[in-house]
Amino acid sequence: MSRPGYLALDIGGTKVAMGLGNSQGKFLAQETCPFRFPRGPQELLRTIREFLNRHSKHRPRAFGLGICGPVSPYTGFLYNPPNLPKSWHRRSLRAILQEGLRIPGRVDNDVNLAAWGEAWKGWGAQGIKSFMMVCPGTGLGGGLVLESQLIRGSHGFAAEIGHALVDPRGPKCGCGLKGCVEAYASGTGLAKLARRYIGQKLDGVELHRLALRGHRTAKKIFREAGKALAITCANAMNLLDVEAFIFGGSVTKSFSLWGPEFKRQFFARLISPVRPKILISKLGTQAGLLGALRLAIESSRSKVPACPAGRQGHE
Ligand SMILES: [Zn+2]
Repeated sequence: MSRPGYLALDIGGTKVAMGLGNSQGKFLAQETCPFRFPRGPQELLRTIREFLNRHSKHRPRAFGLGICGPVSPYTGFLYNPPNLPKSWHRRSLRAILQEGLRIPGRVDNDVNLAAWGEAWKGWGAQGIKSFMMVCPGTGLGGGLVLESQLIRGSHGFAAEIGHALVDPRGPKCGCGLKGCVEAYASGTGLAKLARRYIGQKLDGVELHRLALRGHRTAKKIFREAGKALAITCANAMNLLDVEAFIFGGSVTKSFSLWGPEFKRQFFARLISPVRPKILISKLGTQAGLLGALRLAIESSRSKVPACPAGRQGHE
């Protein structure tokens, strides 16, 4: 006989992490499959169904899905997702999955869900109630938890710190604007800076290795990234007064290269006499999937709020 559970999904650029978990936050089955989004919704549904068939003793009641945005958590609509074809624009991923899987569910920004997972089973379980999650990976995502509540904003786009402005004359960002923090402190940003200042095609990992070998310009690029993050996080701190900033995402592995500059610049810019904690995610890559599991549980209980802005958020 099949046992009820919840389906958690975390879609990245090249892979989808899938898990079947219980209401206590324990995964009963978990897999990561290579996946290229441009193949379309049918491909996604087939990948999920195959996973469910392999673990048919667990029957999901609801799903929760995290994807890098822009995505409305209230409707599941995608808005010009940068890594997906135009055909995904203004499509409701939530509706596609609800119809295809015949279970209720919700969709949210992947870093919102990483923050939600962290609040549940990571630093949140250690008593941190208000924090900003900062995830420099391929891009740079943010998630905000205040007084143990995930803050999605009036239209679902709160805490998009990747596009906070650092320098209006700075390098071009993937969003089309100039000088966003993502253009410095993300895998994509680091690679662009490496090409500009070192003249080589290097990804974040290669740049990291070069810096560890003592390459002065490589080390300077990481310090620049640390400074850009510091300006952004200091602005966020002065606005929100959180207890902690929690870093996740792949660029966090290079914390030893950008962390000292980040801390120096960050603490120098605060109004608050109390220093917030600077923490590394306790859950790592598992944070997003745990947040998706939590969202699945909540959507089965209808605990996810409707869009506060009413119809505007449904367009
Ligand atoms: Zn930007």
